[in-house]
Amino acid sequence: MMDNKGYIMSLSSFFLILPAFLLVMFLVDVSANEAHLQETTLNSHDVVGVATDLETNLPLIGREVLRNKSLEVVCSGIPLSNSRKDVKEEFQNRMNNYCSKYADKGMLVECIILDVDNSYDPFCVEVKSIINVEKGTLKHNVNLTQNISLTNGSFPIYDPLPFVKCRGHGGATIKGERIFYGSSLANYLQSRGIKNYGAYENATSPLSIKKCPYDPYIMHGNTNELINLKNCIDNGFYHESNDGACFLCRLEGKGICSHYGMEIFIIPAATVSSCLNNSSTAPSSVDHVIFNDTGNGTYSGHPILYFTDGNQYFNLYLDDSHRQKYGMPIF
Ligand SMILES: [Zn+2]
Ligand SMILES: [Zn+2]
Repeated sequence: MMDNKGYIMSLSSFFLILPAFLLVMFLVDVSANEAHLQETTLNSHDVVGVATDLETNLPLIGREVLRNKSLEVVCSGIPLSNSRKDVKEEFQNRMNNYCSKYADKGMLVECIILDVDNSYDPFCVEVKSIINVEKGTLKHNVNLTQNISLTNGSFPIYDPLPFVKCRGHGGATIKGERIFYGSSLANYLQSRGIKNYGAYENATSPLSIKKCPYDPYIMHGNTNELINLKNCIDNGFYHESNDGACFLCRLEGKGICSHYGMEIFIIPAATVSSCLNNSSTAPSSVDHVIFNDTGNGTYSGHPILYFTDGNQYFNLYLDDSHRQKYGMPIF
């Protein structure tokens, strides 16, 4: 009897605690779901964070690739046969390496370099890429078109063209921030049968690509003493140019190309007398004129004195269309 009653009691108490039991089960389930939800949110933060990290680092890694490719050409004097393809392949290798570090974190991270080509801005190179990031069932992908700056960054990028052109003629050398040609540029011009090649004996030109701030360019000729032109030359600034070669074609050793590009002044050595008279001529001191070996592209210019300290006389040779571009008196 007692046993029976006890059984009934425990059965009713079972029914009494059942709701509480169900409630606990429900709560456990809810918190498990919440934990799952939190994990999903954390993972999607990870996934988006990795994509953002790649997006930030792509132009920096791309700049290193451009610098390395340029240094290869500067050191060897041997041009790249297809700069866009070569840069793209090297860039892809670097990105594969960069992405592999995420494998330890259980993520599948991939960056495909689709294209390396000219930007609308000649001081940039354009890169198109796709970023894929996967973690578990989460997938995130981004299509990117980015500009790699040739001028803004923690290190300079060198102009490889003079080293290609002067290879086999004695070679150009680097001193500080400038390229010294010695006899190589005069030899190069002589080998092409260009008149008055001697004007470029011991000429110099800038080494790193820097954008000229004297814009509009007619400011170069603004003052009588041509102080802006002198500052531009002393700083080794580059200018935008329809005729000048773009950076990617410079890597291929081309002095001119069909793309919107850049031009610089190549500076003849100073003379000790002012004996240059207005009737003397020499190849115009613009790199796409001097390095245009595709036909009769090297035309001459008349001297323009931009500085003297009384002992030395600093001249450029400039044709009329470049005089006009830089705001200097037409011959
Ligand atoms: Zn300038
Ligand atoms: Zn080009």
